[in-house]
Amino acid sequence: MIVQKYGGTSVGDVDRIRAVADRVASAREGGYDVCVVVSAMGDTTDDLTRMAHALTPVPQPRELDMLLTSGERIAMSLLAIAINAKGCKAASYTGSQAGIITTTEHGKAKIVDVRPGRIQEALAAGNVVIVAGFQGVSTSLDVTTLGRGGSDTTGVALAAALDAEFCEIFTDVDGVYTTDPRICPDARRLDSISYEEMLEMAASGAKVLQLRSVEYARRHGVRVHVRSSFTGEPGTWVQDEGTEGMEQALISGVALDDTEAKITIEEVPDRPGVAANIFKAVADESINVDMIVQNVSHSGTTDMSFTAPRADLSKLEDVLDRIVKEIGAARFVVDGGIAKISLIGAGMKSHPGVAADMFQVLAAEQVNIEMISTSSIRISCVIRSDDAERAVRAVHDHFELGEGAVERGAAV
Ligand code: ADP
Ligand code: ASP
Ligand code: MG
Repeated sequence: MIVQKYGGTSVGDVDRIRAVADRVASAREGGYDVCVVVSAMGDTTDDLTRMAHALTPVPQPRELDMLLTSGERIAMSLLAIAINAKGCKAASYTGSQAGIITTTEHGKAKIVDVRPGRIQEALAAGNVVIVAGFQGVSTSLDVTTLGRGGSDTTGVALAAALDAEFCEIFTDVDGVYTTDPRICPDARRLDSISYEEMLEMAASGAKVLQLRSVEYARRHGVRVHVRSSFTGEPGTWVQDEGTEGMEQALISGVALDDTEAKITIEEVPDRPGVAANIFKAVADESINVDMIVQNVSHSGTTDMSFTAPRADLSKLEDVLDRIVKEIGAARFVVDGGIAKISLIGAGMKSHPGVAADMFQVLAAEQVNIEMISTSSIRISCVIRSDDAERAVRAVHDHFELGEGAVERGAAV
């Protein structure tokens, strides 16, 4: 039993869908039971989102989810048609039909249960089963979506529920690289990466896997194989750190996140409970806050900055209009021109000086650091978005992560 997930580019047009049908049919002929998860074709999700926003700045969340789930339904039914046309039995199911039960937060629902009875019956009847990714049905019976990139999570969740040998994520790159190969052509493909490092990479903006899918895979022990849907070559295994043959690099990669904005609340009264007030109000709107920096107070007030997804800005501005008045702060300002660069590596735990090195590289590039946050295996800096790609290439180069460095004999 295997689960294969195909991303948007991989099912981007009818010819590509036919190529996916060939690949699925050959896995089936190879003796596997196959469950396939598909994303919407090409830019469908973006196009649908744009249409909704052309009608109103903040579309009603329930209706937006109803709209967006249609993208995956198109892809799943076309793929089922293509596979059937090859003489191989296939049947497609929506997330709801596949038993993907979620929380009720539209646009970023979490999977709480998978009840794969119907899928198992269809598999037992000899079908290849195609499931629409990125969607489920909430505990209050509404259709929900799992957040951008959510088909990865559908794939991993089904792999866990069906007790699959592994989950293959077929995408438009041939694995997980030391950094986004579109930014840094010298980036090197990793043969394997630990769940912990992949979690930090995904949380830091490497969109090759949705963060939730990596959390789910780690929790349920699902091995994930990220590979190209175009070549058939082996890609990158995401698995336990201790697995035999794993790479043991000091640094595994550099990630860039250009989807967030920086918000600064100015002249916040310096008294207990203020931070709790602000971030409770923000959390109540299901907005994820990332970095938070509070300056030292000299005059009874202080400035507080944090980052949050740009996609949530209209909601956030409504909350902040209210909360700034409630707590007696002066005002808030939004800065959409930032990006976050992160350096990730399990070896950092035992190697002091990595952060200092990274700051020095940025300084040499004349890149100003506006915020810093760290975990035991990650260092992140908020910088100007105009500097971001140059910064990624400089940091990647300095830590000798690329193909070129390996050829020169650098220790990796
Ligand atoms: P799919 O549509 O198949 O889900 P995505 O666009 O979501 O594909 O993810 C694949 C993309 O992730 C790649 O095209 C690449 O530009 C980007 N990416 C970012 N960081 C990395 C990385 N470290 N390794 C590989 N790809 C990365
Ligand atoms: N179609 C959705 C998106 O574009 C889900 C996915 O591709 O994983 O985000
Ligand atoms: Mg994706």
